[in-house]
Amino acid sequence: MIPASDRLKLGDVEVIRLSDGTFRVDGGAMFGVVPRTLWAARAAPDPENRVTLALNCYLVRTPGATLLLDTGVGPDVARRHVDFYSFEREPGLFGLLAELGLGPGDIDLVVNSHLHFDHCGGNTIRAAGGTWEPAFPKARYVVQRGEWEQAMHPVDRDKPSYIPARLRGLAGSDRLVLLDADGPIAPGVEAVLVAGHTACHMGVKVASGGRVFFYFADAVPTTAHIDLPYITSFDLYPVDTFNAKKALLERAVEEGWTLGFSHELRHPFGCLRRAGRRIAFVPSDGPENV
Ligand SMILES: [Zn+2]
Repeated sequence: MIPASDRLKLGDVEVIRLSDGTFRVDGGAMFGVVPRTLWAARAAPDPENRVTLALNCYLVRTPGATLLLDTGVGPDVARRHVDFYSFEREPGLFGLLAELGLGPGDIDLVVNSHLHFDHCGGNTIRAAGGTWEPAFPKARYVVQRGEWEQAMHPVDRDKPSYIPARLRGLAGSDRLVLLDADGPIAPGVEAVLVAGHTACHMGVKVASGGRVFFYFADAVPTTAHIDLPYITSFDLYPVDTFNAKKALLERAVEEGWTLGFSHELRHPFGCLRRAGRRIAFVPSDGPENV
C-alpha cells in the first residue's frame, strides 16, 4: 500500500516515492569520516554495525511522460550481495508500480542518477539463456555518458559497485540516451550534475507550478547526510561532493525546493530551513528533524 505521504503534487506533475525495499550497509562506510558516536545518534546500527537504508526510486508523472528516477537493486540480486547486505525487497519496485496500475510498458523514461548496482538493478531482467533485456520495453534510458563508460569499464576501485553484464543489453540502440552535462530530459525535468559520489553522478530537478522537486540521489543519500561532513566512504571524490552539495543545499533553502533522497527510510519528501549556522530538514510527513 502506497501511503499518501509518499505522494507529492507539484503543479500538474505528480511525484511518488517507490521503495524497492531495504538493505543494510556498514554505518562507518555510510558516514565516512564522521565518528560513530555522532552518526549512531541519527541512524541506530545493528549488532554488525550496519544501518538500514531504503532503495528509493521516484516516479514522476508529467502531462506528457511517465519517468522513473533510479530502479533500485532489482529482482535478481547478485548472490554475492544477498547475505552481505540483507536485502528485503517485498513488494519491490515492480509490485508498487502494479499497485498504481502501471506495467513496465507504461514507463517512457528511466533516468539513472548513476549506475551502481543498487540504483539500476531494475533496468534489465534476466531473459531465457541468461542474457539481460530491458525491463521497461518502451522506455528510453537516460544516464550521463561518463557514468555509462565507467560502468562498462570499471577500474579496480569501482568493480564492486558495477555489474556491466546486466547493462550491456541497453547499448547499441536509440534506447540509450547519453547526456554530456546538465540539460533537459523532458519538459520540466532536468539533469543536474552533482559530481563526487562518482565523477558523473547526477541529480534530477523537476519543476512545475512554480515549485521544484530535487532528487539528490547518492550526493545526499539520507536526511542524516544534509550536514556537509556527512559523506559516504563510497564517494570517489568527496571534496567534489562537499562542494556540489553545499551549493545545491543553499539553493534548495533559498528557493524552497522539496527534496527526495536515494536511501532515506523515514521521510519520502521534505524541505530545508536555516537553523543558525546549520541547515535543518523539515519533513513533509511529520515533526521537524533538526
Ligand atoms: Zn552509489
